Amino acid sequence: MKIIMLGAPGAGKGTQAKKIAAKYDIPHISTGDIFRANIKSGTDLGKKAKTFMDQGLLVPDELVVDLVVDRVGQDDCSKGYVLDGFPRTIPQAEALDAALAKVDQKMDYAINVEVPDENIIQRMSGRRACVDCGATYHIVYAPTKKEGICDNCGGSLILRDDDKPETVQKRLGVYHEQTQPLIEYYTDKNILVEVDGTIDINDVFTEIVKVLGE
Ligand code: ADP
Ligand code: ADP
Ligand code: ZN
Repeated sequence: MKIIMLGAPGAGKGTQAKKIAAKYDIPHISTGDIFRANIKSGTDLGKKAKTFMDQGLLVPDELVVDLVVDRVGQDDCSKGYVLDGFPRTIPQAEALDAALAKVDQKMDYAINVEVPDENIIQRMSGRRACVDCGATYHIVYAPTKKEGICDNCGGSLILRDDDKPETVQKRLGVYHEQTQPLIEYYTDKNILVEVDGTIDINDVFTEIVKVLGE
C-alpha cells in the first residue's frame, strides 16, 4: 500500500502517517524529518535546506526528489510506505510518478487531511517536538504524560522555529500556492481521499482506516 499524505502545515499529516505506518507495518517517510535530521548532523543538504525552511519556503525540488526516489526504492519499502510532506509541488508529484512508472508501480492513495486556515495557526502554536527523537505532541490535544518531556525517549520538547506564527502564515501561503494544486492532480488520477482533519485525532484515523481497510 503506497500512500501520500496531503494537507496544510499542521493539518495532522505526521500524526496520522505514524498511525498508518504502525497499523499497516510500512515505513513512514517524512521529508521534513529527513531535513531536520540533516540539519542536526550538519550535512551539506541540511545547511542548504535550512535557509529555505527558516523562511517558511519550500526546499527546491532538486534537493528533495532524488532523496525520496532513492528512499522508496529501498528494500523495506517493497510492501508500501506512507509519504508525509512529499510531494509538495506538481513537479515533485510528476517526478515521483515517473520514477514509479519505470518499475511498473503507482501510488494507491492520496489522503487529504482538511483543516481550515483559521484552525492552523492556533494548532501550530501548541505543537511541540522532541529534540531527540522528533516525536510530535500538542500541549492541549496530544499532551505528554510529564510536561515538557517526551513520552517516547525522555528528551526535551521545543516549539519548532518554523512554527512561530509569522512563519506559519508564510507557510500557509506557500501551501495554497504550490501544494494545494496537488488535490486536483490526485483527483484526476482517481486516488484522492478527503478526510476531515478538525475532529479528534483517533476519529480522523478511524475515517482513514475505513478507506484503507482493516
Ligand atoms: P509540516 O509537518 O508542518 O507540514 P514538514 O516537517 O513537512 O512541515 O516540513 C518542514 C519544512 O521542510 C517545510 O516548510 C519545507 O521548507 C521543507 N520541506 C519538507 N518537505 C518538503 C518537500 N517535499 N519539498 C520542499 N520542501 C520541503
Ligand atoms: P503536520 O504533519 O500536517 O504538519 P502534525 O501531525 O504535526 O501536522 O500536527 C500538528 C499539531 O496538531 C501537532 O501538535 C499535533 O499533535 C496536533 N494535531 C494533529 N492532529 C490533530 C487533531 N485531529 N486535533 C487536534 N490536534 C491535532
Ligand atoms: Zn523523544
